[in-house]
Amino acid sequence: MVTIQDYQSPNLPTWCPGCGDFVIWNALKQALVQEGIGPMDVVLCFDIGCNGNMADKINAYAFKGLHGRSIPVAAGVSLANQGIPVIALAGDGATFDEGMQHFIHAIRSNYNVTFILHNNCDFGLTTGQATPTTPKGQRLNGSPYGVIETRLNPTQLALTLGATFVAKAFTGNMPQLIKLIRAGINHKGFSYIETLQHCPTYNNFQDLKWLSERVYDVNADAEYKNTRENAIQISSYDNARVATGLLYQDKESVSYYDALSYRQNITSASKDEVTAYSVKDLMKKFQ
Ligand code: SF4
Repeated sequence: MVTIQDYQSPNLPTWCPGCGDFVIWNALKQALVQEGIGPMDVVLCFDIGCNGNMADKINAYAFKGLHGRSIPVAAGVSLANQGIPVIALAGDGATFDEGMQHFIHAIRSNYNVTFILHNNCDFGLTTGQATPTTPKGQRLNGSPYGVIETRLNPTQLALTLGATFVAKAFTGNMPQLIKLIRAGINHKGFSYIETLQHCPTYNNFQDLKWLSERVYDVNADAEYKNTRENAIQISSYDNARVATGLLYQDKESVSYYDALSYRQNITSASKDEVTAYSVKDLMKKFQ
């Protein structure tokens, strides 16, 4: 039986006291334990950022790559190891600055990856600069006169790109986040879980109190129909309240790998089919 102790790392977190990363860190471990997935049966992909420092704070197969590149690494791992849950984690700055193209193509391709976005509306590791999700006009260390650019709405972006699983959580509600991560792991395709993460050190404009006063769980409303159109509408920044929960899911979703007709009935993993070639003779041509 998998227990939370299986995921305990001897390395202690270095996040600021009260950081929302603690909540996501614990929710991720709890979700994996509740799914009965052991640390040797999952791959976690991180990049650079406060959240990326989670990579060695959790005892599991974890890869820490370049800024904004956790999604392509996760896609590759997933394609090479069918059947193993692969989870990518990244911040809003990394995902929507350096990594935007990966986000778009992962949604288009519907890779079998669960993506947890840590959206704290700032670059925390580099001491509080604006990201594409920072509200327009907001002052931060790197924008003392206020952000000029239009604010990106990542949930609406994912929905309009055709994402097959779109959820929103916030770090004031860990049980909800655990539930959504578990649902994301079981989804066939790219599951996008935006987590509104409080950052008490640099984000005093959408702190835990601000978020707690505005969020509501759409799944608590039996009348809510999670169509793409409804999800786009309730995700608007113009709304006074912030919708969380499983906003949209295509239950008929087919992942990229499962759509590869020539892989039908092949039971071996792609990684086991790679042959090691000697490149010695080839290299001689260039010597
Ligand atoms: Fe967390 Fe913000 Fe501190 Fe980074 S800067 S560890 S996101 S509170």
